[in-house]
Amino acid sequence: MTAALWAIAAAVAAEVADVRAFTREFPAMLDPPELVEGYSFMSTHFDRLVDLAEERPAAVRIETLGTTTRGRPIYAFHVAEPHEPVVERVLVFAGIHPTEWISVEVAVQILEELIRRPVPGISVTVIPVLNVDGRVKSESDVAIGRFKAFRRGNGASPPVDLNRDFAVHRESRSIWRRLLPGYHATSPTGALSQPETQALDALARRQLYDRAVSLHAFGGYHYYPWSGRWRRAEDHRRFVALGRSMEAAQGAGAYRPRQLSRWGFFFRAQGTEIDHLYGEYGTEAFLMELTRSGIRPWRLRKDLRTPFRWYNPRRPRKHVERGVSAVRALIRGIED
Ligand SMILES: [Zn+2]
Repeated sequence: MTAALWAIAAAVAAEVADVRAFTREFPAMLDPPELVEGYSFMSTHFDRLVDLAEERPAAVRIETLGTTTRGRPIYAFHVAEPHEPVVERVLVFAGIHPTEWISVEVAVQILEELIRRPVPGISVTVIPVLNVDGRVKSESDVAIGRFKAFRRGNGASPPVDLNRDFAVHRESRSIWRRLLPGYHATSPTGALSQPETQALDALARRQLYDRAVSLHAFGGYHYYPWSGRWRRAEDHRRFVALGRSMEAAQGAGAYRPRQLSRWGFFFRAQGTEIDHLYGEYGTEAFLMELTRSGIRPWRLRKDLRTPFRWYNPRRPRKHVERGVSAVRALIRGIED
């Protein structure tokens, strides 16, 4: 091994030790309930990821972006083919909404694939869980059988919805805002008021990503900006083309691309991450609503009482594959 390789391996070893110390604090359940069958706990995900990082230290760098309101680390994995010049940068992040475990499954799967086989010329940053505190709470709900818990916020008290905490298009101009105020609400604490959103913003400003995707559930759409304004984005055609390439990559059951504010005539989402990334940094940012819900018509009453199931279908494999196919297409992008 050359001196340079030794240095890389030593740096990764330190990062890995840090992640392992974190996962030991939140061990996976030994006997998880049927509800979460097919899904992994955060510690299992991270342990597997750092195992892989140790095998391929030259391809991956683990960065602590900051700490949550409860002082927990927010990890990002930067993956690139060693010795290849970086031409484009892509950001993939998940777990803004704690109950949407499927989003984390997709982020982790694409990350594992990238560590094994980076895309030449494209540096990809993956944040498997942005809202770490929310995820810890969601896992503890599962552990103590509190299956009716519904969580959207982070670890602040009261919890803040990070999906409404960004700076661009916070003010609603829709004529519907007085009739349907709930649809137009943003975080009451002001723009970028939370350490998690600040960490993401600082990363985006530093890296100036070409493309990004924020993984959510459910809906089955590839949403693009604007989400807080009815008008079309300047790069609307480009968004449609990228969205179509993501759709095409998914095959059967593919999700459709759509401007988020045009989901319904009354609907707007103010202060979202995609308007922020696109408006502030010109990043072609998507919000992918994974799955068409896990609610089963023949178990409607039971599933409606179980928020975990709204977002996370039983037997998640094919849903994860579908999401990963689209993320893969977004990473590779399309010619202008
Ligand atoms: Zn969500």
